[in-house]
Amino acid sequence: MKRDSRYDVLFEPMAIGPVTAKNRFYQVPHCNGGGYRDPSAVAEMRGIKAQGGWGVIFTEQCEMHHTSEIAPFIELRLWEDKDIPMIAKMADRMKEHGALAGIQLAYSGINGPNLYTKEVPLAPSAMPIRTFTNDPVQARALDKQDIKNLRRWFVNAAIRSRTAGFDLICLYGAHGFGIFQHFLSTATNHRTDEYGGSLENRARFVREVVEDVREAVGDTMGLTLRLSLDEMIGDLGFANSEVRDFVEMHKDLPDLWDLAHGAWEDCSGPSRFKEEAAQFDLVTGIKSLTSKPVVGVGRFTSPDVMVKQITSGTLDFIGCARPSIADPFLPKKVQEGRIDDIRECIGCNICITGDMTMSISRCTQNPTFMEEWRKGWHPEQMNRKGETANVLIVGAGPAGLEAARACAERGYDVALAEAGEMLGGRVARERKLPGLSAWGRVADYRTYQLSQKANVETYLASKLDAAQILEFGFENICIATGSHWRADGVSRQHVVPMPMHPAMPVFTPDDLMAGRLPSGKVTVYDDDHYYMGGVLAELLVQKGCDVTLVTPSAYVSDWTNNTLEQAEIHKRLVLMGVDIQLNRGVVAVGDGSLTTNCTYTGLTREQPTDAVVMIASRRSDDGLYKDLKAREAEWQDAGIKSVRLIGDANAPGPIAWATYAGHRFARELDGEDIGDALPFRREIAELAAD
Ligand code: ADP
Ligand code: SF4
Repeated sequence: MKRDSRYDVLFEPMAIGPVTAKNRFYQVPHCNGGGYRDPSAVAEMRGIKAQGGWGVIFTEQCEMHHTSEIAPFIELRLWEDKDIPMIAKMADRMKEHGALAGIQLAYSGINGPNLYTKEVPLAPSAMPIRTFTNDPVQARALDKQDIKNLRRWFVNAAIRSRTAGFDLICLYGAHGFGIFQHFLSTATNHRTDEYGGSLENRARFVREVVEDVREAVGDTMGLTLRLSLDEMIGDLGFANSEVRDFVEMHKDLPDLWDLAHGAWEDCSGPSRFKEEAAQFDLVTGIKSLTSKPVVGVGRFTSPDVMVKQITSGTLDFIGCARPSIADPFLPKKVQEGRIDDIRECIGCNICITGDMTMSISRCTQNPTFMEEWRKGWHPEQMNRKGETANVLIVGAGPAGLEAARACAERGYDVALAEAGEMLGGRVARERKLPGLSAWGRVADYRTYQLSQKANVETYLASKLDAAQILEFGFENICIATGSHWRADGVSRQHVVPMPMHPAMPVFTPDDLMAGRLPSGKVTVYDDDHYYMGGVLAELLVQKGCDVTLVTPSAYVSDWTNNTLEQAEIHKRLVLMGVDIQLNRGVVAVGDGSLTTNCTYTGLTREQPTDAVVMIASRRSDDGLYKDLKAREAEWQDAGIKSVRLIGDANAPGPIAWATYAGHRFARELDGEDIGDALPFRREIAELAAD
């Protein structure tokens, strides 16, 4: 197929200083939880994006000097020449298919607690370090000599970046993470010398660094400046009007303006709170203030929305982080006229949790993310089919759907049996909850892909039992039958069922999603701590209930701190009138009331309520698997060679865990037995000689 001519504008080359991008698809810097600990995994991940057709590909933030770092978060480091081979490997992989390779140089200033290097942090003004974890560390104000040193360190890092083979340098001044913003913002710059006070003075440092770096490497490398469109902390911060003034005063300062937004939470807003192209108003008009190209972000997944950004004169480049994670081949699919094949980001921010938990990132939509090198998984190509011919997949939730899609891609004959009337499992239910409609893309993408394959048969309203499966004669059986929420309160506070009076109406998330709703005064007890408690509290208010949310955690929807949406969830619930009770558990459910307890003191109180919504844990629906296992002696006669339990039916987890499990099943079908060997590659730091 050929690309639709209305997307031609996305494929026009454009210069960024002395280098030229082949198209407008610009992968802005994004973290991945791997960083310096997993450099080959990161390099391969970026290389896959080069294959996928991106015109510009950036690294994540690279700590450019040892006097500023953000341990325990795992990003890149360029502290000495010894670090060059690591980032050179990334640059090489990025450039393989004609993309420009960019490196984001970060000096974290007021955001760098230096927990690893133990250096005293340096910032424009002496202040407490501003991090997610409120580290009890303060920064010293840079004196004039420090500023000279810092300018030199940027030049050193720029020269090392050039040696490593990069085409572009991004000077990081966005999200509250980069020193350029710390100088520009009156919130973090209280200086009274020529680097503080007026905007012109606050801009002095960035002007000097751009000039220094341009002089050192500007003949061959493009320089970009990444700023937030609005610091989002009121008038004291670097607000949108001042950003515009700054751009106007420094029209031609960088070779490209990279316009991010606010803090990371604002810039990477989840779909629950932010639409595609949410920054449109904030960015509109900035391009006319400068002759240099502008890139902006907005979780762009639709090529039509992308085209509009360019034809409306708003942006020159389409900046993507999450959309490039969910589908590294997005540009190529637009180029080839395969729009329906785009695997759209659902805006769940699970990818960000890999960075926030310092583990390694995953993606709900793209299970191969960060497994490109570790497991050799390619997002668009499956391994060759093995010796058996067919597979029966039972359950069409995210695990079963991905298993079916990926097995079909490998060439197996696939039968997908689903007890319900539609495909999608939990996603089909959860997409109807407030704010979660975009999550339905997990099912939509896979349903469409299955519909395009001749080797897949889908059977709805087909609840299978062990006897039927033994009769069918499939060689491989994959059980992806999911899970259901427990009503007995067992989770973390209660490891055995909690005392419950039979007169109290108790509901689970499954009840609510099936339309069985409580009324009157309802208490949501959240001992799950991910999104479900907050989402259901919102649903119940919408349905007219008087809602109290009780949780043993110090935060509503605690784990969503890792998806950067916890503050928005809390805010929304407060504004909706939900009575939020933190650090409280439920010790017993009575008749017309609950006994709640303070998690610190154990002191209890009685709270009247008409109903309880129990958001505790889930129980795997693994009965079918157990029934089959009990009849293992009959497998051979039935022609069964393998039976596997995957996804929530194996162990309940987030949706991303289920798509990963489905993909892994498909990859490993008919695979060799690796015994006790590690199922992925990793890098181990080389031991010093002495
Ligand atoms: P996961 O997240 O692991 O994919 P889900 O709960 O989303 O799990 O999906 C499991 C799906 O399996 C549900 O749609 C459910 O209707 C279906 N299912 C459960 N038991 C059976 C069965 N015995 N036969 C066919 N489908 C089943
Ligand atoms: Fe998008 Fe979620 Fe994948 Fe991140 S994890 S890229 S938000 S689908």
